Amino acid sequence: FQSKPVAGRHFLQIPGPTNVPDRVLRAMDNPTMDHRGPDFGLFGKALLEKIRHVFKTTSHVVIYPASGTGAWEAALTNTLSPGDRVLMCETGWFAHLWHEMAGRLGIVADFVKTDWRRGADVAQIEQRLREDKAHAIKAVCVVHNETSTGCTSRIDEVRRAMDAAGHPALLLVDTISSLGSIDYRHDEWGVDVTVAGSQKGLMLPPGLSFNAVSAKALKASETARLPRSFWDWKPMLAANATGYFPYTPATNLLYGLDAAVDMLLEEGLDNVFARHDRHAEATRRAVRHWGFEIQCAEPRHYSSSLTAVRLPEGHSANALRATILERHNMSLGNGLGQLNDRVFRIGHLGDFGDLQLIGTLGGVEMGLRAAGVPHQPGGVQAAMDYLSGNA
Ligand code: PLP
Repeated sequence: FQSKPVAGRHFLQIPGPTNVPDRVLRAMDNPTMDHRGPDFGLFGKALLEKIRHVFKTTSHVVIYPASGTGAWEAALTNTLSPGDRVLMCETGWFAHLWHEMAGRLGIVADFVKTDWRRGADVAQIEQRLREDKAHAIKAVCVVHNETSTGCTSRIDEVRRAMDAAGHPALLLVDTISSLGSIDYRHDEWGVDVTVAGSQKGLMLPPGLSFNAVSAKALKASETARLPRSFWDWKPMLAANATGYFPYTPATNLLYGLDAAVDMLLEEGLDNVFARHDRHAEATRRAVRHWGFEIQCAEPRHYSSSLTAVRLPEGHSANALRATILERHNMSLGNGLGQLNDRVFRIGHLGDFGDLQLIGTLGGVEMGLRAAGVPHQPGGVQAAMDYLSGNA
């Protein structure tokens, strides 16, 4: 749907949903098959096996026909009981929403605060866990890549902090905007539930979400008493054993997922991560050249999937985005929660190459001029200099 005719391709540079590659679109453009028939079982079994590589796990990956929010709920309801305590870290808007959900489900969620300009505060997490001698805290929940701020938490360090405190809590991690874009290792980092979504690094439309589940999480689900039905892992895993689902799966999205996973594995996950690292660095060079601050104030936590850019006081990020959409047919991410109108977000995740990045930054630079935001011209050149020197 377009409210008026626009020539040229729309630039979808929000930090997800991302651009869906033609190969994935073609894969979805196939007849829907019988999800109880013999071919589906073969297809489902192979896909459920293959997707594990993306999470770097040898354990189960559950696929829901739902957005990421559903997979958040699945992670909590399968592992916890009413009144359980969890430790969450307020890295930004998405951590805030997950915290609110936990409260609505009857979980008591402690919240480690941050200033929304860095990743999870690992020292605080360790201290809280050390103080919890009775092991009342049942889970630590961290958003790996906080899409509202462009800050990436160090899950390897969170794991080490939990081990250093000798605490048995489960580790639940939201990778909705990092999986398939930023290095992530479910097994190696001892994550118990990884939450993911289809519409970002996996290059699919919205509509699928995931839980990768450790043996420890599976064990916890046997005694967890929060009510669950649609999200219950047990019937899901029973059906998945032969490649099927307990209810109607999103068949055509699964065709797309199969193609998307092939694309990621053919490129090689490490190459995918390096590609995003490089585009993120080029973007930061453009932003600094323009004279703006990056929302992430801690270089060790810079996100490779998106960059949130702070505009100078007195300038509206929403007005800038509206100008860029109107003039250049490009969507950029808005500021969420306390960052509304203060930042705009450039998505550089998913199916993305050098020329798309330069087009994106070109649209921003032209928009800055048109919207009258004071800046030093030449940010695009700074990005090109970096990219051409680092092919
Ligand atoms: N967590 C993170 C980090 C996200 O970026 C998002 C969506 O952008 C969500 C959770 C919520 O996912 P969904 O909108 O697919 O329900």
